[in-house]
Amino acid sequence: MKYIDEFKDLVRGSGILKEIVRLATFKVSFMEICGSHTHVICKSGLRALLPDNINLISGPGCPVCVTSQPEIDAIIDFADSNKDVIITTFGDMLRVPGSSSTLEQVRARATDVRVIYSPLGALSIARQSPQKEVVLLSVGFETTAPLIASVLQTAQAEGITNLTVYPLHKLTPPAMAVLLDSKDMRIDGFICPGHVTAIIGADAYGFIAKDYKRPCVVTGFEPLDALFAIYMLLLQIKEGRADIENEYKRVVSGTGNARARAIMDHVFEPSDALWRGLGSIPMSGLSLRDDYMGFSAAKRFGIDITKYTDSSKGTLDCRCADVLRGVINPAQCPLFATACTPTAPQGPCMVSDEGACAAWYTYERTAVAL
Ligand code: SF4
Repeated sequence: MKYIDEFKDLVRGSGILKEIVRLATFKVSFMEICGSHTHVICKSGLRALLPDNINLISGPGCPVCVTSQPEIDAIIDFADSNKDVIITTFGDMLRVPGSSSTLEQVRARATDVRVIYSPLGALSIARQSPQKEVVLLSVGFETTAPLIASVLQTAQAEGITNLTVYPLHKLTPPAMAVLLDSKDMRIDGFICPGHVTAIIGADAYGFIAKDYKRPCVVTGFEPLDALFAIYMLLLQIKEGRADIENEYKRVVSGTGNARARAIMDHVFEPSDALWRGLGSIPMSGLSLRDDYMGFSAAKRFGIDITKYTDSSKGTLDCRCADVLRGVINPAQCPLFATACTPTAPQGPCMVSDEGACAAWYTYERTAVAL
């Protein structure tokens, strides 16, 4: 298949790999901030192919993982005490440990929690059950927000009043700035997310090159895409440049998808957001605009996350907060592959396929000393 198969075959990338080895005469740390990139890097065994000088760090790229503990606890408490409401959510949220329960356990206690595969699923349920309140737990980055906004526009046009949304969206660039400002880690360049950048455009990272003098490469989701991104970052550093480059031109442009952003901006406005591991980041989340406040689950049901403390822990001493900041890798968590596994996750990073701990457990645990 054109534009996909040729990017899957790492053997085709042997020339690039040789160039990477030639360029890697200094230590560098590159962070990927997309769970799909984490997945492809682990699955392809890329880390093992690279010279020791190149450290690939997984950052806060999994939307379920960065959802804060107070938000998870508030959702679980709300679901547990509202058995007459239909809760709709993407599957990964079901098993994320709250401080004392999970949505999956709440469902076993007779709350109607349903997994949807698209926000349109919540809209369909609301249409089919007009006598029931339907709440959409809306988690995701800039990629998901336009879809949610579009669903709310449709619901408003149809006069649907039994659908509300609990938006937990996060915006990527503000989190990147916080990571670069962090004193306890060093990031020499970013492997930027392909999907998010298809919406916001590669130009959105201009401040990282201008203000922080760090290179960025937007890349796709096949092994060769990741390899090219590493090569392009290394070359920039070798040449003393800090530019925003786009390896994923087959999908991403400099300006992104203006139509998707217009829909998102019509329904949502930027607001402060609480991230697991990164704390409260100004203007890094999305809240409903006044015209759409009628769809606010928080307002209709009085959901208030300020009542919950941010322990950032799961049921045991989970280090997800440090994994999400790239301060440790998953294998450095004492619970990794012992008390914490995909069948018994202690934190969100082991729950979601996009979580770093799940990816390391599935593909890299034999490569690390446990
Ligand atoms: S291995 Fe488990 S407990 Fe440790 S950081 Fe990852 S998800 Fe949390």
